[in-house]
Amino acid sequence: MENRILGLHHITAIANNAKRNLDFYTQVLGLRLVKKTVNFDDPGTYHFYFGNETGTPGTILTFFPWEGIGPGTNGSGLATHIGYSVPKGSLEFWKHHLQKNHVSIEEGEIFGEKMISFKDPDGLQLQFIEPSTEDKRKVWTIDDIKDENALKGFYNVTLTLKKADPTIKVLTDILGYNLQKQENERYRFVTDAIETANTIDIIENNKMPAGRNAAGTNHHIAFRVKDDHILMEYREKVMSAGLSITPKIDRDYFYSLYFREPGGVLFEIATDNPGFTVDEPLEELGTNLKLPKQHEGLRDKIVEVLPKLS
Ligand code: ZN
Repeated sequence: MENRILGLHHITAIANNAKRNLDFYTQVLGLRLVKKTVNFDDPGTYHFYFGNETGTPGTILTFFPWEGIGPGTNGSGLATHIGYSVPKGSLEFWKHHLQKNHVSIEEGEIFGEKMISFKDPDGLQLQFIEPSTEDKRKVWTIDDIKDENALKGFYNVTLTLKKADPTIKVLTDILGYNLQKQENERYRFVTDAIETANTIDIIENNKMPAGRNAAGTNHHIAFRVKDDHILMEYREKVMSAGLSITPKIDRDYFYSLYFREPGGVLFEIATDNPGFTVDEPLEELGTNLKLPKQHEGLRDKIVEVLPKLS
């Protein structure tokens, strides 16, 4: 079990205005800002990490808010929908809460499970789903959103693809997922290596125009492994399948590899170590602006150019 892919680690998406993004995810959806840092390759841009209290992998949604970037197009070759697991019976709360915050919602179901879908302020597609089995993950609460309603973390992510087969091969042969269900054009793949954030849906649609990455779209999805030793085992596996993959990259809170799967979606594999408490204590997570070593010397300049959050 130890050396397997443990479901999702995080998902990274693109936003426009930083403050609007921060306010929506912390105040409307009630997630914890687990880390406030900058894009390591573009330190004048924030990198926000939203998750549960401890920033457990499988709960982490991160954003690069690029001020002034135009809207992207959700379409094939992208992770098009993020599914959060919510407590049983909480969808009624969320319907009212989102409507109160001027978010329009649609009700539906996927594979017999009730859900609501809506867009964040940049147009990112979110789905809140009541899983048929209880999700025991610990949540982060705020005044408005208590235990019985708070988001548990990811349930699934949906990839929209012109042709599913080559991607399915990566999911099953390299990453250890198995087909659990299929209904029309939707396939569901699950890994039994972990109980939560373990589901990838694929919608095969060869008429869907290609997506374009900008605000309101997902940039990549990251799969989770225990440590950087296992990470490097996966690097070998991906290369043996004939795909190009980056060297190991130090992201301060985890180690990463990136590769583009044949359907066009950017995949990352990321480690549990060292985690978000490596540079600030649990109770202070997200309250300090954390900079990577290579940019610490430029802190004053960076603070000056970063967009205002209050
Ligand atoms: Zn990432």
